[in-house]
Amino acid sequence: MNTYDIVVIGGGPAGITLAKLLGKTFSTAIIRPEDYSMIYCAMPYAIEGLINTEATFKSDKLVTDAGAVLIRNTVKSVDYDQKLVVFEDESSIAYTKLILATGANPFIPPITGSTLRGVGAFKTQADLVWIENLVEQGLKQAVVVGAGAIGIELAQALSFRDVVVDLVDMAPSVLPNLVDIDMAADLAKEIESQSIHLHLNSRVNELVGTEGVESVVLDTGHRIDFEPAEGDSLSGVVLFAAGMKPDLTLVEGSAIELGRDGIIVNDAMETSVKDVYAVGDCVQYISGITGKPLSGKLATNAVPMAKVLGFNLLGHKRTYPGFYNGAATKVGKYFIGGTGLSESTARSMGYEVVCGYSQVTTKFPIMPEARKKKMKLVVDAKSHRILGAQVVSGEPVAGRMDLLTFAIQKESTVEDLSALSYASQPHQSFYPAANIVVLAAEDIREKQGW
Ligand SMILES: Cc1cc2nc3c(=O)[nH]c(=O)nc-3n(C[C@H](O)[C@H](O)[C@H](O)COP(=O)(O)OP(=O)(O)OC[C@H]3O[C@@H](n4cnc5c(N)ncnc54)[C@H](O)[C@@H]3O)c2cc1C
Repeated sequence: MNTYDIVVIGGGPAGITLAKLLGKTFSTAIIRPEDYSMIYCAMPYAIEGLINTEATFKSDKLVTDAGAVLIRNTVKSVDYDQKLVVFEDESSIAYTKLILATGANPFIPPITGSTLRGVGAFKTQADLVWIENLVEQGLKQAVVVGAGAIGIELAQALSFRDVVVDLVDMAPSVLPNLVDIDMAADLAKEIESQSIHLHLNSRVNELVGTEGVESVVLDTGHRIDFEPAEGDSLSGVVLFAAGMKPDLTLVEGSAIELGRDGIIVNDAMETSVKDVYAVGDCVQYISGITGKPLSGKLATNAVPMAKVLGFNLLGHKRTYPGFYNGAATKVGKYFIGGTGLSESTARSMGYEVVCGYSQVTTKFPIMPEARKKKMKLVVDAKSHRILGAQVVSGEPVAGRMDLLTFAIQKESTVEDLSALSYASQPHQSFYPAANIVVLAAEDIREKQGW
């Protein structure tokens, strides 16, 4: 039986980050069953046809060139007392330290009809290939459940490929975990302008069919009927993008402490069992703002967690600060970003909130292709601390979101942001006379008399 200094179960972004950091220093094994680790974020663009499917496959060399061993197998169980990892074929390996990086799986609610043919999700290489093949074979209709970033990106890609798409969400607005309702109205219109039928305030109650899905019944009474299929083919699919559940198969029943949304770790990524660590989507995320559990699973949290752990195993003393929830997506012509707490989340957590708004153009307004760009700041009325920010723009927003996330991380106040020093140039910003962040901060100061 092989023994490794470090065994990582999971070959996603967290596992690969650990391989890169540790592979040359320790005997390190990364375990993953799939043919390929995926660039998940790019999968919608493979469906759309913007990139090849193969472009979404990560090279195994990321692991092996780093000196780690890649084991293509599924772990059946872990003996945490004997420090053994047992595979489905009953073979096993021993570890000195174990890292759980098993990720999260799409949640498919156990409603009537959820096991019918044509019901699926959008996470793995198998999901991508399945959907792509159906599209190639002339898939006519799809119901996408969940109008978050993944659901919208998937719905847009399918619509682009001439599939008739219905997008369903129980929330009253799209991207409910990213932006508040007052920032989302243009986005709903933009989705509908792409011939996607949007059903907000609606929950999928039941899937009807004998073998494959034939109809989708919403709690509003609305019914989406698929055209009858020819022969063996599916004329419609139902794809759930309604949240992720941490994969806890290997820890349930063990001494490892679990929270509502994953494995509980401290700020050094240690679980409650000695020499067992956990990183990435299988972990219960903690908000860096509130110190409380935070839902939502992102690679931009999985990778920093893995880095903290990797450096600590190399002898450094790093601590994980929590997650600030910065994320971005694209809806038609709009680029959207959100970070920290939304107004609705902050209020539901008991904060007394004040909000500021601003709107400028992406370039000097006199320049060709200047587009609108608007922003919302969410601020704690008591401490004046920035709790969250949202941007909807005609240009990419990731850089802006990083700045705002850093402001939140550093516990900046609205006064700090109103004094922000900024850059301006005709192709890249509004006139020097105004900056979108400063304007939103000034909006609050003016309204509050601060
Ligand atoms: C369509 C889509 C788009 C996304 N877009 C973005 C984005 O734009 N930005 C962003 O930050 N995040 C995005 N995400 C989320 C991001 O992909 C995840 O947060 C990230 O992959 C989590 O990394 P991880 O390493 O923790 O887990 P995962 O990537 O889920 O990897 C888990 C690994 O563990 C393995 N595993 C599990 N159980 C076992 C077992 N028993 N034996 C062996 N191996 C096992 C799995 O097979 C897998 O290899 C997107 C996700 C999807 C699905």
